Amino acid sequence: MSTETAAAETTSASAAPAEGQRDFVRQIIRDDLATGKHHAIRTRFPPEPNGYLHIGHAKAICLNFGIAREFAGWCNLRLDDTNPGKEDPEFVEGIKDDVRWLGYEWHDLRHASDYFEVFYLAAVKLIEDGHAYVDDLNAEEMREYRGTLTAPGRNSPHRERSVAENLDLFRRMREGEFADGAKTLRAKIDMASGNINMRDPAIYRIRRIPHQNTGEAWPIYPMYDYAHCLSDALEGITHSLCTLEFEDHRPLYDWFVDKVDLVNHPELWTRLREGGFQTEPAKPRQIEFSRLNLSYCITSKRKLAQLVNEGLVDGWDDPRMNTLRGLRRRGFTPGGIRLLIERLGVSKQNSVIDYAIFENCVREDLDGSAPRRMAVLDPLKLTITNLPEGHEEKLSFSNHPKDESFGTREVPFARELWIEREDFAEVPPKGFHRLKPEGEVRLRGVGIVKCEELLKDAAGNVIELRCTLDLESRQGMPGADRKVKGTIHWVSARHAVAAEVRVYDRLFNVAAPDDDSDGKSWIEHINPEAKRIVQAWLEPSAAAAAPEQRFQFERLGYFVADRVDHRAQQPVFNRTVTLRDTWAKQA
Ligand code: ATP
Ligand code: MG
Repeated sequence: MSTETAAAETTSASAAPAEGQRDFVRQIIRDDLATGKHHAIRTRFPPEPNGYLHIGHAKAICLNFGIAREFAGWCNLRLDDTNPGKEDPEFVEGIKDDVRWLGYEWHDLRHASDYFEVFYLAAVKLIEDGHAYVDDLNAEEMREYRGTLTAPGRNSPHRERSVAENLDLFRRMREGEFADGAKTLRAKIDMASGNINMRDPAIYRIRRIPHQNTGEAWPIYPMYDYAHCLSDALEGITHSLCTLEFEDHRPLYDWFVDKVDLVNHPELWTRLREGGFQTEPAKPRQIEFSRLNLSYCITSKRKLAQLVNEGLVDGWDDPRMNTLRGLRRRGFTPGGIRLLIERLGVSKQNSVIDYAIFENCVREDLDGSAPRRMAVLDPLKLTITNLPEGHEEKLSFSNHPKDESFGTREVPFARELWIEREDFAEVPPKGFHRLKPEGEVRLRGVGIVKCEELLKDAAGNVIELRCTLDLESRQGMPGADRKVKGTIHWVSARHAVAAEVRVYDRLFNVAAPDDDSDGKSWIEHINPEAKRIVQAWLEPSAAAAAPEQRFQFERLGYFVADRVDHRAQQPVFNRTVTLRDTWAKQA
């Protein structure tokens, strides 16, 4: 399929047959369908809108949305916005955009904050049932009472307050009567539990700051562990897929779901229906899988934010960033990202994936989808002396060597060309098959040229090669299949369009930037060579591309017209990835 003129690409993820992937999560789902435990599969992707999504999130997106699609269920996009102060509507929009770019569409868009009223009522119910109490301990005291991994905690002196007193205090917390941190609503579970998460965790804390969705409406906010599982239950999520660090939280997840028992408390969820939410509460099951960790990458929103805030990169969509926006701007494809996730599969095994595997997935996707063009990044002039001044031709080139449906294009050819400087060597190393003094090379699509003469500047740098073209070696001529070892690309100097090309490389120059065992902070591993700007020459049909059009520039790599700065009159291209792995030999 030709993508020649397609600015808006087709990003929809192909529906893999349910038989396709056989990981433990999909097996649980198949079993649940087979036993009749569930008749429909419902998942959700629940990012916190405190930053843009990164490559790690792609795994959770592909898993949740992918499973919903494969099993003909649905997946909600839920913004987990229980932490006001760090959250921002800008991030909400960015997250929606990125999920769609990856090729997925949500069933419903929800915010955890949509449920604040229900969470509040559920907390009242927990108090009434003797499962929650208002504590006056401050954060430091609470930490001290909590105990340690080896020592049990102690009960708070406020743990035995009466239901009536707790209800009154909680109502007054909600009315904004107390200062931040002065009181906390806690679950009454077990201060001696071997699982620290079960030692009377906080349910609500007082924070009198505005919220990105609810504004000034609430002075108290629910804790993640409380809000998350109840959101799942309210939305009727059947399988709540999350990363391994939540494994220890699962008993608490189940505790809240059981004690609130939404299914049997229709007055709670009928409120949601009145609010316009179509929901059918369920008892969700949390299943943990291992995070995606990639070498040469940072997958912590806090650190990605630090790169942006300290000006170490040019924003969240800097093509060096492994945010989804950065990868997009860099030219990485949704298909390449989905291929990576599919290849890695899902397990509970923690590991670090070699970045080269990711790049290979993207190459594989681009190889099939990117039309070919010629561009010269480091130009050296080549003049064909046996063609007349003003000679001009239009040569027909195929746009893809393996796929005729990409069609052909015309490439102007004339007497003066640009070639890559590194395709010529005055003193060639052994095995050099490109151009050298007195040597011959094939000019792609033209014929064989011989280097007859070098012109140098005063400093002794080669500035021009004067060559003759073997006219008998041109297409359709008797010498057309005469063999020479090398073929190089070129652009016509008169017709070429000047372009800014941003040559990107990996942002970190070590595989594990987060590893500080060498005493260096991750910031110190930033690769200063990760962005290099060159002035390049493009064949005219590359310059005319729409923003986000991707090409293979022959022999150089895959490039994309920058989605922000590219104009046909002033082209700007980003190098997505080279044709081969250039890091392997350095490692
Ligand atoms: P950070 O700690 O950087 O803020 P997070 O995990 O808190 O990241 P969330 O917005 O809460 O970010 O993540 C949304 C979902 O994406 C969660 O279900 C989380 O488990 C999942 N996720 C985040 N990072 C990864 C990763 N590296 N691999 C797989 N899933 C991830
Ligand atoms: Mg989180």
